[in-house]
Amino acid sequence: MKKTIGVLAVQGAFAEHIDALQKLDVNCIEIRQKSDLTANQIDGIILPGGESTVMGKLLHELNILDDLKRLIIEGLPVFGTCAGMILLAKTIVNDNNVHLGAMDIEVKRNAYGRQLGSFNTYGQFTGIGEVPMTFIRAPYIESVAKNVDILATVDNHIVAAQQDNMLVTSFHPELTSDLRVHSYFLNLA
Ligand code: GLN
Repeated sequence: MKKTIGVLAVQGAFAEHIDALQKLDVNCIEIRQKSDLTANQIDGIILPGGESTVMGKLLHELNILDDLKRLIIEGLPVFGTCAGMILLAKTIVNDNNVHLGAMDIEVKRNAYGRQLGSFNTYGQFTGIGEVPMTFIRAPYIESVAKNVDILATVDNHIVAAQQDNMLVTSFHPELTSDLRVHSYFLNLA
């Protein structure tokens, strides 16, 4: 049966994730309000890149935050890219905000500074192989708890990790034509 994946669509690069999922023959539901989340049966959800502060504020104002957190803690597969990773983190080392606070990772926002804010590279991703990685004012993970698997590092910085049903990447696989990281997520969902 076709899987149905929700894509948080309140801000940021959600359209590119929808394109990638459609190429993988998945039904997509844009999550724009609370009822999109509560009234639909979804097999997983993607939290896209964008501006984590804005997205966190909108999740709060739209009254989605608590339901989303509960679903994730109950085991809903979730894939956070870039700002989506920041939303999932329990600790943001250079920001006082905690948004969903579901994953045992410490992330640093805008970790590459202004000069190196955006770049493309290739890196090894556990279980997949070498993948293209596009970074845009990206965070990286400074540390993980024991229950978190590190899936990719670039220059000794953690850029992909998984804790049970939660997958995160610092980079944007939806901005490349390589669909393997999305497929990896769909295997969780
Ligand atoms: N710099 C953004 C933030 O801190 C993340 C950038 C992105 O998602 N591409 O929220």
